[in-house]
Amino acid sequence: MVNLAARVTVDTAALKHNLRVVRDRAPGARVMAVIKANAYGHGLVAAARALADAEAFAVARLEEAVSLRNAGLSNRIVLLEGVFHPDQLPRASALGLDVVVHSPGQLAMLEAADLPEPVSVWLKVDTGMNRLGVRPGDAGDAVRRLAACASVAAPVRFMTHLACADERDGVFTDRQLQVFDEALAGLEGERSIANSAGLLWRADARADWVRPGIMLYGASPFSGGAGRDLGLKPVMRLASSVISVKDVRAGERVGYGGTWEAPRDARIAIAAIGYGDGYTRHLGSGTPVMIRGETRPLAGRVSMDMIAVDITDAPAVRVGDEVVLWGEGIAVEELARRAGTIPYELLCGVTQRVAVTVV
Ligand SMILES: *Cc1c(COP(=O)(O)O)cnc(C)c1O
Repeated sequence: MVNLAARVTVDTAALKHNLRVVRDRAPGARVMAVIKANAYGHGLVAAARALADAEAFAVARLEEAVSLRNAGLSNRIVLLEGVFHPDQLPRASALGLDVVVHSPGQLAMLEAADLPEPVSVWLKVDTGMNRLGVRPGDAGDAVRRLAACASVAAPVRFMTHLACADERDGVFTDRQLQVFDEALAGLEGERSIANSAGLLWRADARADWVRPGIMLYGASPFSGGAGRDLGLKPVMRLASSVISVKDVRAGERVGYGGTWEAPRDARIAIAAIGYGDGYTRHLGSGTPVMIRGETRPLAGRVSMDMIAVDITDAPAVRVGDEVVLWGEGIAVEELARRAGTIPYELLCGVTQRVAVTVV
């Protein structure tokens, strides 16, 4: 059956291309492809299969790692926040996962655990973001305890996370890199620092492992940036169809609140997509959508299931025509800017009812 409702196409060739861009930009570093949050909305397993060349995957939840193993993926998998409860450790061990240890509580969990197989550990050091991580001064002690712990496989690896890697003024990043270096002085072990922004912008942050997320999906991590300028290709295409075309007179209003008023006799296309699909209501009149290869402006508010588009200058538009919301030709970064958010949130926000086709 033809699907005229909101739909997503995931371009696996674009994912592979973007992984090659990561490798070009971080020569010599191993790649931990970040596929948390359902691969930023693209579909966890499909994305992982396309990115299977990556040396590791990073996820945020044990359940995500379970899905990957159930799908037969044997890559190294890192739980970025480690386990949330001691009950999860035997499962992580049985699945051969790497766990992050970011707190004294997680260290104690490992010391108290009796696991079938020791787990590999990434000690996370908080170098200034003040989200997760042990304090820099406690890193040496944590390493000694991990080395003495029967549930921990040698060698221990290290990571930190940059808070301001997307800011071109790198003063805060300089500080974090220095704190990380000092905290780990004299300690052997692989290191990982950089997310997408860090690996693109800071050669000195690439270390042994890079952890790209957003750039794998083709979007720029920089505000005001465009993936295309970095040589990236958009992976997700969000589209729907025109379900009604109508003429309105000059002065008539369109949609909830009547916020769009026809400045002249106008023609409106109604398309079957709305915030119920993840097309955020923060996008206002004038937002570009693409119909028949040309951009047309949104007219009025985004509803739950529908949007209105001003097609006065496109008399050929018909019911059934495809409407592209983002993807090639409409950058998700530009929409995010208009909506006062970041492309991550738009991509992650596509909802369950949107059918996904992987090509
Ligand atoms: C999400 C995440 C990343 C990826 O960040 P991007 O900005 O999407 O590249 C890297 N490291 C950690 C710890 C993360 O949580």
